[in-house]
Amino acid sequence: MTYHPHQLHAAAALASLRRAVSYLDVVRDALLITNPQPADAPARHRSAAALAAYDELLRAEKADRLVNQRAGIKPAGATPAPVNPALLDVEADLGPTVHHAVMLVASELRTHPLLCWSSLWVDIADSKWDGRCDYLAAALPAVSPALAREVHGDLDVLDRRLRGVVGLDADRWSLPGGPRCPACGQRRLQAQISSPYTAAWTVVCDNDACRCRGPLCACAMATRPIRVRHIWPADSPLVRVLLAGLHTAPSEQTAA
Ligand SMILES: [Zn+2]
Ligand SMILES: [Zn+2]
Repeated sequence: MTYHPHQLHAAAALASLRRAVSYLDVVRDALLITNPQPADAPARHRSAAALAAYDELLRAEKADRLVNQRAGIKPAGATPAPVNPALLDVEADLGPTVHHAVMLVASELRTHPLLCWSSLWVDIADSKWDGRCDYLAAALPAVSPALAREVHGDLDVLDRRLRGVVGLDADRWSLPGGPRCPACGQRRLQAQISSPYTAAWTVVCDNDACRCRGPLCACAMATRPIRVRHIWPADSPLVRVLLAGLHTAPSEQTAA
């Protein structure tokens, strides 16, 4: 099956966001604690209401701190507000953004026999994060390129914000041997490896100016929409050749 580049980009952004959210689950407590805590860990409040209260406190403190700084007063020590507001902001946007994407996709696929918004999907995906993401993963290959582009934009922005807050780089490997991009000639091809399924991996060119020039572009993508960032699926002839090193020489990867 041939996928449109917008569908590939959307699926890659979804996989990347899911991986960033699982990373956040692991490091969340460490990120929240930006100051020494007034109580033992089990005594700290972690409810949404408590976090929101901390958030307000920190924002209020920030204003006070600025006033004090201008007056030359240095902070005396730890503050009681341990929450990174950027983390709260991005977490607050996770659910609504993915829900919005699900609704857009479900609306477009309302006549699709399996992916229309039926009781099957309502049970799986109505309120659960993983369910919504599973629905999107199943449905994105079936949506129009225009909608895939919109969903990609929303998910990619959120993924970048979240990764910025938690300090997580993009899940990318430079291809071993540094093969040249067939479109721009630079040796900046990278495998996007967020998906747990290697078949869903894609290769992109890290050169921001490397965009498709349309049907006559030398990129060898199956579909060549003009000005779209190049992306090759794992089963494309180009990637089969380029990724051969990743699958056959893991010891060389670790050595490098
Ligand atoms: Zn390129
Ligand atoms: Zn191209």
